[in-house]
Amino acid sequence: MKNIGFIGWRGMVGSVLMDRMQAENDFSGLSPVFFSTSQAGQAGPDIGVGPQPLQDAFDIAILAGLDAIVTCQGGDYTRVVHPQLRAAGWEGYWIDAASSLRMEEDSLIILDPVNRAVIDRGIENGVKDFIGANCTVSLMLMGVHGLFNNNWVEWISSMTYQSASGAGAENMIELIQQMGVLGRSCTPGQSALELEQVVSGKMRGTEFPQEQFGTALAGSLIPWIDRCMDNGQTREEWKGENETHKILQGERFIPIDGQCVRVGAMRCHSQALTIKLNADVPLADIEAAITGANEWVQLVPNEKAATLAQLTPISVSGQLHISVGRLRKMTIGPEYLTCFTVGDQLLWGAAEPLRRMLLILAGR
Ligand code: NAP
Repeated sequence: MKNIGFIGWRGMVGSVLMDRMQAENDFSGLSPVFFSTSQAGQAGPDIGVGPQPLQDAFDIAILAGLDAIVTCQGGDYTRVVHPQLRAAGWEGYWIDAASSLRMEEDSLIILDPVNRAVIDRGIENGVKDFIGANCTVSLMLMGVHGLFNNNWVEWISSMTYQSASGAGAENMIELIQQMGVLGRSCTPGQSALELEQVVSGKMRGTEFPQEQFGTALAGSLIPWIDRCMDNGQTREEWKGENETHKILQGERFIPIDGQCVRVGAMRCHSQALTIKLNADVPLADIEAAITGANEWVQLVPNEKAATLAQLTPISVSGQLHISVGRLRKMTIGPEYLTCFTVGDQLLWGAAEPLRRMLLILAGR
């Protein structure tokens, strides 16, 4: 497997993927071809051999000549191009960050530190579509799958605090524009209440930049991510339970539900978990299970100084480790556990499982 197409390489996920692949020398031995949906013919990324011109990401004939395609372009692109390629008889590997194919019967959701056995079985059985999980689902599992491994989890409620970059490059730029408008509202000598009134007026005003988010995120938050489902959940909330089940492919269906909230963090998603255990497992055993599950999980002591230093979006931004802290039994009862976890959604929540899947398929 050598000829690999990359689509969506200049978006948030794609640019982090390019950085990681260069940092790990993943391009060595591969012949990458870069595509664009909007900039065909212009210069592509320079991965050390000079930029090549970008190919048209809708050109089925060129795509069909590739051994594998890695796309971070988004679900609309996948919905248009994937069926055309398969209909044209293409049998290459499709590795995708978007959600469109995640729940298809013949696809697998990939998170190899958690479900490598499922992936290996899938490759053996001829699976060709390998799809990255929703970012909060990946980060939740990377943080606490030690509890799943021990079959201790009865159910989970997850309350998320998701960053602007989770919505893509344009949204991230808009958050900074919103912050800029608010920052420029501050004049010397204003009282805090006067400042709040000026700022709130700007946030409610028609001039406030909100084309992407539809409302103010800077100085506020948005308790809605993705579209509405029939049962009142948002699709982001629906993914928690359904994607976890597909990743783990366990015998037991573990209920997972909660609320997903967009906050004004730039990068990295956080979540507060309430976990109903099926036994009064000692906290020391829980800590050992969490830290022993994979090499990236990092337990943060339940103390203020450690929390401020290690359990915030900025403390994990650009880092591969997943922090799990505020871990304690709840006062509700000894089988109720709470913790707070934060990780870089552009790394383990998006780019990292894709590049690792490519390497698995390339036999590296
Ligand atoms: P994105 O930043 O919006 O990029 C997607 C595409 O938008 C780019 O490839 C580019 O395509 C185009 N684009 C338009 N304006 C741009 C700009 N100013 N800067 C860069 N690109 C621009 O989307 P994304 O967040 O990377 O998400 C891609 C897919 O991954 C989505 O399906 C998303 O749901 C999924 N995902 C995202 C995250 C996350 O944290 N962001 C996590 C997990 C999964 P052209 O070059 O072809 O114009």
